[in-house]
Amino acid sequence: MEKPFPSLESLRRTMESCNHCGQCKWLLGPKTRGHDFSEICPIHQRYGFDAYSGQGLLNIAQELLEGELQYEDGLVELLYRCTTCGACDINCKSIRDMEVLETILALRAKVVADGWGPMPCHREQARAVAEHHNIYGRDHAERFAWLESSQSLAPESGVAYFAGCAAAYHYPGIARDTAKILNAGGVEFSVLHAEEYCCGGPLWRTGQWEEARKVAEHNLAALEKRGITTVITSCAECFGTFRGFYPRISPLRFEVLHITEVVRQLLAQGRLALRHGPRRKVTYHDPCLLGRLSEPYIPWNGEVKSFGRLDPPKEWRRGAGGVYDAPREVLRAIPGLEIVEMIRNEENSYCCGAGGGVADAFPEFSQWTSNERRREAESTGASAIVSCCPFCQGAFERARGAADGAMDYFDFTRVIAEALGE
Ligand code: SF4
Ligand code: SF4
Repeated sequence: MEKPFPSLESLRRTMESCNHCGQCKWLLGPKTRGHDFSEICPIHQRYGFDAYSGQGLLNIAQELLEGELQYEDGLVELLYRCTTCGACDINCKSIRDMEVLETILALRAKVVADGWGPMPCHREQARAVAEHHNIYGRDHAERFAWLESSQSLAPESGVAYFAGCAAAYHYPGIARDTAKILNAGGVEFSVLHAEEYCCGGPLWRTGQWEEARKVAEHNLAALEKRGITTVITSCAECFGTFRGFYPRISPLRFEVLHITEVVRQLLAQGRLALRHGPRRKVTYHDPCLLGRLSEPYIPWNGEVKSFGRLDPPKEWRRGAGGVYDAPREVLRAIPGLEIVEMIRNEENSYCCGAGGGVADAFPEFSQWTSNERRREAESTGASAIVSCCPFCQGAFERARGAADGAMDYFDFTRVIAEALGE
């Protein structure tokens, strides 16, 4: 039986199934276009050793369990350099039935339980969330400072916009644009006001599962109390956390939509018209937690039988069910806007460098990863990157700040608000 919060021990089958084929480091052959942009794992591409890869992390997990490897600061640091982007997991699952990312996350939870992790900045985030309900330690009363009096809210509507910490405190423009888009499309919605806490995603992904569970339980109770039937997010991290983490606590009683999906619905219903488009070529970056890691959590209550056979068969999350079409279809509907694709796209997207607590713990490596992604974006001939996650925005902007003449970055909500004439 598989638990929603699996122990590392319970994932031995994955560790023992790894045959060191290396697929977790590379795009599948038919998807590559030469050597450049064929690597899929940022830590492996940057550091070059097997230990820095999905395969290596499985080996480390197994050796820690078997007592062949002991904790030390260097080992813990290595484990926290992984961005938890899940590219290894999806590429491994293209040929195997294994849970690579679940193992990496369970390894982090064990490191925390054993008192060796997380990194100090991650512990600080957990303290900030406990005291102020946001990862930045900012005043909780400022969380909805982005709300303008011109935005109309409908507290009884059953639809809630969940802004998340990053938009609320660092990118209020994303939250305002989301509200403008919903208002323009006639979507009646409310917000949780003081009841909105951090979604818990950054804590979950750094192994702080108890702390993540507490805020998730709070948000679930707040949504239930208001009778919410639809949650809309504009943040990929919140979206992936609602879909992949919250159902581990209790089955969701509401649907979760990303703003890209809502805009697609509104266009199909004729409730929005995108009239104002810049003559521009852009490339779309798939955030990990909106793409391959946004597939809903699927419980499995079977048993591992002889030869590793699973009874009953397990439904695997292989990344194909992520949100890929909605943002692309909407962007293509904007007059004059041309979309060109990067080689590593959709479930094979390359991480922006912000995930898994890496942006805070290892800013230099995070920036290196963002620059590698930006280099790929530039190779398409596009003049800007469009994506839909404030954490990705932060990563690309930090990389841009360090480079002369780097290409622009726009959040999806800004592009749509402009196309609406806002
Ligand atoms: S792709 Fe899977 S089986 Fe192959 S080395 Fe990586 S983790 Fe092991
Ligand atoms: S989650 Fe991402 S960074 Fe971590 S090992 Fe897998 S591919 Fe590499």
